[in-house]
Amino acid sequence: MTATEDLIASAEAHSAHNYHPLPLVVASAEGAWMTDVEGRRYLDMLAGYSALNFGHGNRRLIEAAKEQLERVTLTSRAFHHDRFAEFCTRLAELCGKEMVLPMNTGAEAVETAVKTARKWGYRIKGVPDGRARIVVASDNFHGRTTTIISFSTDPEARADYGPYTPGFDIVPYGDLDALREAVTDDTVAVLIEPIQGEAGVLVPPPGYLPGVRELTSDYNILFIADEIQSGLGRTGRTFACDHEGVVPDMYVLGKALGGGVVPVSAVVADADVLGVFRPGEHGSTFGGNPLACAVALEVVAMLNTGEFQQRATELGDHLHAELRLLVGSGKVTQVRGRGLWAGVDIDPAHGTGREISEKLMDLGVLVKDTHGSTIRIAPPLVISKEDLDWGLDQLRAVLG
Ligand code: PLP
Repeated sequence: MTATEDLIASAEAHSAHNYHPLPLVVASAEGAWMTDVEGRRYLDMLAGYSALNFGHGNRRLIEAAKEQLERVTLTSRAFHHDRFAEFCTRLAELCGKEMVLPMNTGAEAVETAVKTARKWGYRIKGVPDGRARIVVASDNFHGRTTTIISFSTDPEARADYGPYTPGFDIVPYGDLDALREAVTDDTVAVLIEPIQGEAGVLVPPPGYLPGVRELTSDYNILFIADEIQSGLGRTGRTFACDHEGVVPDMYVLGKALGGGVVPVSAVVADADVLGVFRPGEHGSTFGGNPLACAVALEVVAMLNTGEFQQRATELGDHLHAELRLLVGSGKVTQVRGRGLWAGVDIDPAHGTGREISEKLMDLGVLVKDTHGSTIRIAPPLVISKEDLDWGLDQLRAVLG
């Protein structure tokens, strides 16, 4: 048995089978490259579902983490700590908002957004108690908690987890008329991904996000943008909403906010929204801890340079131009996405998304399939053009 086989067998025996990873075991990583326990190198074209926008082992982030590790890592929110104010101030500035509520995982931040919207609905908008409704989109992915999967349309994500949390209305993604019809006096928020990642990197039709903005403003409804996967540089702008000049009422952030070093998530909004909380009404032991704040502060500082957004734009244009050629050649049926982020639908004649991912792995490139025939490409934004081209060469080789 190889070390890889041994470790995978052991993981299978002693961990729940809620994932189906590609059969490699990573031992180390740097930049856009990972090395497995056999010493084989792989180009990471997934970047932890965009959590690793700044690459593996990013020196600025590692140094910030190390320095903080030596000082203080956790106080809980029972006490103030000296990185908290700066983190909240800088992140709020990046978002053009006034307040931050930090959590850890993406799902926790989405839960926080849902709770914020409901509380805002009752306290500020005046919705009768227990009646608040939130409109969401079909094919959404906002996380795995019981409430969040209650408004998923993916049977795999929902099955056997009922009873489900009520209070959500699901409308087709990208359909403004359906959204308009779903809205009632009790609607407190519209929660959407500005680009649907897990659904296969679905970009809504032009005008959709501005339409959502207009509708929500007209009806005194909060527009919550889940930018956990789309935000923080991935699409070539700080936020995917920026492409259409749209400013939501609440940003939900995660993944890249922790730089792939620590889990950091947050809800960011103005004081008239996040100001609804009083002590004791919400919280998290680890949310906003010193280590998380130190790393996220560095993430915000890196985003403020604009360098990563620029890379995502330039390399993204190149990536999409190359992928479009594959559509032309008929091996790929559709390519979607924005910036350094693409959903590639493989012609089933060339294999399933999983098969293509496994073949790419054999050639040293890591991507991940979704929904049968789609592969997702989202390399770290620090990837070099040469490496990106090499990865694309391997994709062409696999497609034959
Ligand atoms: N929201 C979006 C848009 C996501 O893509 C994800 C994760 O893929 C989540 C929420 C959930 O984040 P987490 O896995 O950190 O809970």
